[in-house]
Amino acid sequence: MNVIEKAPAKINLGLDTPMRYLDGSPQWNMVMTSVDLADYVNVEVHQKNKQIKIYTDSGFLPNDQRNLAYQAVHILRNRFHQRDGVTVKIKKNIPVAAGLGGGSADAAAVLRALNRVWNLGLSLEELATISLTIDSDVPYCVYNQTAHVTGHGEKIELLDPFPHYPVVIAKPKVSVSTPTILKKIDYEHLNHNVDIDQIIEGLETSNEELLFKAMGNVLEPLTNRSYPEITKLKQKMLMHGAETAQMSGTGPTVFGVCKKLSRAKRLQNSLRGFCHEVYLVRAL
Ligand code: ATP
Repeated sequence: MNVIEKAPAKINLGLDTPMRYLDGSPQWNMVMTSVDLADYVNVEVHQKNKQIKIYTDSGFLPNDQRNLAYQAVHILRNRFHQRDGVTVKIKKNIPVAAGLGGGSADAAAVLRALNRVWNLGLSLEELATISLTIDSDVPYCVYNQTAHVTGHGEKIELLDPFPHYPVVIAKPKVSVSTPTILKKIDYEHLNHNVDIDQIIEGLETSNEELLFKAMGNVLEPLTNRSYPEITKLKQKMLMHGAETAQMSGTGPTVFGVCKKLSRAKRLQNSLRGFCHEVYLVRAL
Protein backbone atom coordinates (compact mmCIF):
# COMPACT_ATOMS: atom_id res chain seq x y z
CA MET A 1 0.00 0.00 0.00
CA ASN A 2 1.30 3.47 -0.75
CA VAL A 3 0.37 7.05 0.15
CA ILE A 4 1.59 10.35 -1.33
CA GLU A 5 1.93 13.20 1.13
CA LYS A 6 2.74 16.84 0.41
CA ALA A 7 5.62 18.32 2.43
CA PRO A 8 5.44 22.14 2.31
CA ALA A 9 8.33 24.50 3.08
CA LYS A 10 8.10 26.81 6.10
CA ILE A 11 9.16 30.42 6.47
CA ASN A 12 9.85 32.22 9.74
CA LEU A 13 7.70 35.34 10.06
CA GLY A 14 9.51 35.94 13.32
CA LEU A 15 12.54 34.19 14.80
CA ASP A 16 13.90 35.00 18.24
CA THR A 17 15.94 33.04 20.73
CA PRO A 18 16.08 34.40 24.28
CA MET A 19 18.63 31.94 25.68
CA ARG A 20 20.53 28.68 25.35
CA TYR A 21 19.40 25.58 27.29
CA LEU A 22 21.96 23.73 29.40
CA ASP A 23 22.34 21.13 26.63
CA GLY A 24 23.52 23.96 24.33
CA SER A 25 20.40 24.08 22.16
CA PRO A 26 18.55 27.37 21.64
CA GLN A 27 15.26 28.20 23.31
CA TRP A 28 12.98 29.29 20.45
CA ASN A 29 10.35 31.98 20.22
CA MET A 30 9.14 31.88 16.62
CA VAL A 31 6.14 32.43 14.40
CA MET A 32 6.12 30.19 11.33
CA THR A 33 3.88 29.71 8.36
CA SER A 34 3.95 27.21 5.49
CA VAL A 35 3.96 28.07 1.80
CA ASP A 36 2.94 26.30 -1.40
CA LEU A 37 6.45 25.24 -2.34
CA ALA A 38 6.52 21.56 -1.46
CA ASP A 39 8.32 18.24 -1.74
CA TYR A 40 6.22 15.17 -2.57
CA VAL A 41 6.77 12.14 -0.38
CA ASN A 42 5.62 8.73 -1.58
CA VAL A 43 5.50 6.20 1.27
CA GLU A 44 5.04 2.50 0.52
CA VAL A 45 4.78 -0.28 3.10
CA HIS A 46 5.24 -3.94 2.20
CA GLN A 47 6.02 -7.35 3.67
CA LYS A 48 8.84 -8.27 1.23
CA ASN A 49 11.54 -7.42 3.79
CA LYS A 50 12.04 -5.20 6.84
CA GLN A 51 14.28 -2.63 5.20
CA ILE A 52 13.87 1.13 5.20
CA LYS A 53 14.75 2.44 1.74
CA ILE A 54 14.93 6.14 0.91
CA TYR A 55 15.18 7.47 -2.63
CA THR A 56 15.39 11.14 -3.59
CA ASP A 57 15.80 12.85 -6.94
CA SER A 58 18.59 15.00 -5.46
CA GLY A 59 22.15 13.76 -5.88
CA PHE A 60 23.28 15.60 -2.74
CA LEU A 61 21.11 14.02 -0.10
CA PRO A 62 21.99 10.97 2.02
CA ASN A 63 19.71 7.92 1.63
CA ASP A 64 20.61 6.32 4.96
CA GLN A 65 19.84 7.13 8.61
CA ARG A 66 21.16 10.67 8.07
CA ASN A 67 18.06 11.40 6.00
CA LEU A 68 15.35 12.83 8.27
CA ALA A 69 12.72 10.81 6.39
CA TYR A 70 14.59 7.62 7.36
CA GLN A 71 14.62 8.71 11.01
CA ALA A 72 10.86 9.35 10.89
CA VAL A 73 10.18 5.79 9.65
CA HIS A 74 12.57 4.32 12.21
CA ILE A 75 11.04 6.13 15.18
CA LEU A 76 7.42 5.34 14.35
CA ARG A 77 8.10 1.73 13.41
CA ASN A 78 9.98 1.03 16.64
CA ARG A 79 7.54 2.80 18.88
CA PHE A 80 4.51 0.96 17.48
CA HIS A 81 6.26 -2.40 16.89
CA GLN A 82 5.50 -2.44 13.16
CA ARG A 83 7.41 -5.03 11.10
CA ASP A 84 6.71 -3.84 7.56
CA GLY A 85 9.42 -2.78 5.16
CA VAL A 86 9.07 0.88 4.17
CA THR A 87 10.14 2.56 0.93
CA VAL A 88 10.08 6.35 0.74
CA LYS A 89 10.53 8.20 -2.55
CA ILE A 90 11.00 11.95 -2.23
CA LYS A 91 10.54 14.44 -5.07
CA LYS A 92 12.57 17.42 -3.84
CA ASN A 93 11.31 20.88 -4.80
CA ILE A 94 12.38 22.70 -1.63
CA PRO A 95 15.99 23.93 -1.84
CA VAL A 96 18.29 22.04 0.55
CA ALA A 97 20.04 23.69 3.53
CA ALA A 98 18.17 26.89 2.76
CA GLY A 99 16.34 27.73 6.00
CA LEU A 100 13.05 26.46 4.54
CA GLY A 101 12.84 23.30 6.66
CA GLY A 102 12.86 20.87 3.72
CA GLY A 103 14.23 17.87 5.61
CA SER A 104 11.85 18.46 8.52
CA ALA A 105 8.92 18.79 6.11
CA ASP A 106 9.80 15.40 4.56
CA ALA A 107 10.08 13.74 7.99
CA ALA A 108 6.73 15.17 9.08
CA ALA A 109 5.11 13.99 5.84
CA VAL A 110 6.42 10.46 6.46
CA LEU A 111 4.93 10.50 9.97
CA ARG A 112 1.51 11.64 8.71
CA ALA A 113 1.59 9.04 5.93
CA LEU A 114 2.54 6.12 8.19
CA ASN A 115 -0.04 7.19 10.77
CA ARG A 116 -2.65 6.64 8.05
CA VAL A 117 -1.20 3.51 6.46
CA TRP A 118 -0.72 1.73 9.78
CA ASN A 119 -4.03 3.05 11.19
CA LEU A 120 -2.27 4.32 14.31
CA GLY A 121 -4.95 6.91 15.03
CA LEU A 122 -2.45 9.43 16.41
CA SER A 123 -3.45 13.09 16.67
CA LEU A 124 -1.21 15.77 15.12
CA GLU A 125 -0.25 16.70 18.69
CA GLU A 126 0.89 13.14 19.41
CA LEU A 127 2.83 12.97 16.13
CA ALA A 128 4.48 16.30 16.93
CA THR A 129 5.58 15.07 20.36
CA ILE A 130 7.08 11.90 18.90
CA SER A 131 8.89 13.89 16.19
CA LEU A 132 10.94 16.29 18.32
CA THR A 133 13.96 14.00 18.54
CA ILE A 134 14.33 14.15 14.73
CA ASP A 135 14.80 17.93 14.41
CA SER A 136 13.42 21.02 16.16
CA ASP A 137 11.37 22.04 13.07
CA VAL A 138 9.60 18.67 12.63
CA PRO A 139 6.85 19.24 15.25
CA TYR A 140 5.86 22.45 13.45
CA CYS A 141 5.96 20.70 10.05
CA VAL A 142 3.52 18.06 11.34
CA TYR A 143 0.91 20.88 11.43
CA ASN A 144 1.95 23.16 8.52
CA GLN A 145 -0.25 26.01 9.73
CA THR A 146 0.61 29.47 10.97
CA ALA A 147 1.80 28.90 14.52
CA HIS A 148 3.70 30.25 17.53
CA VAL A 149 6.53 27.80 18.21
CA THR A 150 8.45 27.82 21.49
CA GLY A 151 10.64 25.65 23.74
CA HIS A 152 12.89 23.30 21.75
CA GLY A 153 10.33 23.54 18.94
CA GLU A 154 7.80 21.21 20.56
CA LYS A 155 5.33 23.80 21.90
CA ILE A 156 2.98 24.70 19.07
CA GLU A 157 0.11 27.14 19.38
CA LEU A 158 -1.91 27.58 16.20
CA LEU A 159 -2.62 31.15 15.08
CA ASP A 160 -4.82 32.86 12.50
CA PRO A 161 -3.37 32.32 9.02
CA PHE A 162 -0.88 34.71 7.42
CA PRO A 163 -2.61 36.93 4.79
CA HIS A 164 -2.87 35.27 1.38
CA TYR A 165 -0.36 37.65 -0.24
CA PRO A 166 2.22 36.69 -2.87
CA VAL A 167 5.57 35.84 -1.31
CA VAL A 168 8.79 35.91 -3.34
CA ILE A 169 11.36 33.43 -2.06
CA ALA A 170 14.96 33.81 -3.20
CA LYS A 171 17.83 31.48 -2.39
CA PRO A 172 21.39 32.62 -3.08
CA LYS A 173 23.82 30.00 -4.34
CA VAL A 174 25.23 29.14 -0.91
CA SER A 175 24.22 26.46 1.58
CA VAL A 176 24.15 27.30 5.27
CA SER A 177 24.87 24.79 8.00
CA THR A 178 22.26 25.33 10.74
CA PRO A 179 24.42 23.82 13.57
CA THR A 180 27.35 26.12 12.62
CA ILE A 181 25.17 29.24 12.83
CA LEU A 182 23.51 28.13 16.08
CA LYS A 183 26.91 27.56 17.72
CA LYS A 184 27.94 31.14 16.84
CA ILE A 185 25.02 32.86 18.63
CA ASP A 186 26.30 35.40 21.16
CA TYR A 187 23.26 35.71 23.46
CA GLU A 188 24.60 38.76 25.31
CA HIS A 189 24.86 40.85 22.17
CA LEU A 190 21.94 39.55 20.16
CA ASN A 191 20.00 42.36 18.48
CA HIS A 192 16.32 41.51 19.08
CA ASN A 193 15.09 43.07 15.85
CA VAL A 194 11.74 41.25 16.05
CA ASP A 195 8.63 41.46 18.24
CA ILE A 196 6.94 38.06 18.44
CA ASP A 197 4.02 39.29 20.61
CA GLN A 198 3.21 41.99 18.09
CA ILE A 199 3.41 39.56 15.18
CA ILE A 200 0.80 37.44 16.98
CA GLU A 201 -1.33 40.50 17.71
CA GLY A 202 -0.98 41.63 14.08
CA LEU A 203 -2.21 38.23 12.87
CA GLU A 204 -5.08 38.01 15.33
CA THR A 205 -6.35 41.56 14.70
CA SER A 206 -5.59 41.49 10.93
CA ASN A 207 -3.40 44.55 11.46
CA GLU A 208 -0.94 44.14 8.58
CA GLU A 209 0.97 47.30 9.33
CA LEU A 210 1.72 46.05 12.84
CA LEU A 211 2.48 42.55 11.52
CA PHE A 212 4.95 43.65 8.83
CA LYS A 213 6.69 46.08 11.20
CA ALA A 214 7.11 43.46 13.93
CA MET A 215 8.49 40.71 11.66
CA GLY A 216 12.21 39.94 11.84
CA ASN A 217 14.89 37.33 12.40
CA VAL A 218 17.57 37.75 15.08
CA LEU A 219 19.91 35.37 13.23
CA GLU A 220 19.96 37.44 10.05
CA PRO A 221 22.96 39.66 11.01
CA LEU A 222 24.86 36.55 12.10
CA THR A 223 24.40 34.60 8.85
CA ASN A 224 24.91 37.80 6.88
CA ARG A 225 28.40 38.16 8.35
CA SER A 226 29.47 35.07 6.38
CA TYR A 227 27.09 35.62 3.44
CA PRO A 228 26.65 39.36 2.78
CA GLU A 229 24.48 38.60 -0.25
CA ILE A 230 21.61 38.22 2.25
CA THR A 231 21.40 41.94 3.08
CA LYS A 232 21.88 42.83 -0.60
CA LEU A 233 19.01 40.56 -1.53
CA LYS A 234 16.79 41.98 1.20
CA GLN A 235 17.53 45.56 0.12
CA LYS A 236 16.77 44.68 -3.47
CA MET A 237 13.41 43.21 -2.44
CA LEU A 238 12.48 46.31 -0.44
CA MET A 239 13.61 48.59 -3.27
CA HIS A 240 11.39 46.70 -5.71
CA GLY A 241 8.29 47.17 -3.60
CA ALA A 242 8.14 44.30 -1.09
CA GLU A 243 6.17 45.36 2.01
CA THR A 244 8.64 43.50 4.17
CA ALA A 245 11.64 41.23 3.51
CA GLN A 246 13.79 39.05 5.74
CA MET A 247 15.84 35.87 6.03
CA SER A 248 14.10 32.57 6.85
CA GLY A 249 15.50 30.25 9.54
CA THR A 250 19.29 30.26 9.61
CA GLY A 251 19.30 31.32 5.95
CA PRO A 252 20.42 31.96 3.35
CA THR A 253 16.91 32.18 1.81
CA VAL A 254 15.30 35.63 1.89
CA PHE A 255 11.58 36.16 1.34
CA GLY A 256 9.64 39.29 0.49
CA VAL A 257 5.90 39.84 0.89
CA CYS A 258 4.05 41.89 -1.73
CA LYS A 259 0.45 43.04 -1.62
CA LYS A 260 -0.10 42.80 -5.37
CA LEU A 261 0.61 39.88 -7.66
CA SER A 262 1.84 42.21 -10.43
CA ARG A 263 4.43 43.68 -8.09
CA ALA A 264 5.51 40.23 -6.90
CA LYS A 265 5.96 39.10 -10.51
CA ARG A 266 8.08 42.18 -11.27
CA LEU A 267 10.14 41.49 -8.16
CA GLN A 268 10.58 37.85 -9.17
CA ASN A 269 11.80 38.89 -12.64
CA SER A 270 14.19 41.49 -11.26
CA LEU A 271 15.81 38.89 -9.03
CA ARG A 272 16.41 36.36 -11.79
CA GLY A 273 20.05 36.50 -12.80
CA PHE A 274 20.90 38.11 -9.45
CA CYS A 275 19.86 35.09 -7.47
CA HIS A 276 20.25 31.34 -7.98
CA GLU A 277 16.66 30.21 -7.31
CA VAL A 278 13.54 32.41 -7.14
CA TYR A 279 9.98 31.23 -6.41
CA LEU A 280 6.64 32.99 -6.27
CA VAL A 281 4.42 31.37 -3.65
CA ARG A 282 1.64 32.09 -1.15
CA ALA A 283 1.12 31.10 2.45
CA LEU A 284 -1.10 28.01 2.81
P1 ATP B 1 16.99 23.33 9.36
O1 ATP B 1 15.57 22.83 9.55
O2 ATP B 1 18.01 22.52 10.12
O3 ATP B 1 17.13 24.80 9.51
P2 ATP B 1 17.22 23.74 6.52
O4 ATP B 1 15.82 24.06 6.25
O5 ATP B 1 18.16 24.87 6.48
O6 ATP B 1 17.37 22.96 7.86
P3 ATP B 1 17.28 21.21 5.08
O7 ATP B 1 16.92 21.29 3.64
O8 ATP B 1 16.31 20.58 5.99
O9 ATP B 1 17.73 22.66 5.52
O10 ATP B 1 18.71 20.46 5.15
C1 ATP B 1 19.51 20.49 6.28
C2 ATP B 1 20.39 19.26 6.31
O11 ATP B 1 19.57 18.11 6.49
C3 ATP B 1 21.17 19.04 5.03
O12 ATP B 1 22.53 18.96 5.38
C4 ATP B 1 20.71 17.69 4.50
O13 ATP B 1 21.76 16.87 4.05
C5 ATP B 1 20.03 17.04 5.68
N1 ATP B 1 18.83 16.26 5.29
C6 ATP B 1 18.49 15.07 5.77
N2 ATP B 1 17.35 14.63 5.22
C7 ATP B 1 16.95 15.54 4.34
C8 ATP B 1 15.83 15.63 3.46
N3 ATP B 1 14.90 14.68 3.37
N4 ATP B 1 15.71 16.76 2.72
C9 ATP B 1 16.64 17.74 2.83
N5 ATP B 1 17.72 17.69 3.64
C10 ATP B 1 17.88 16.61 4.39
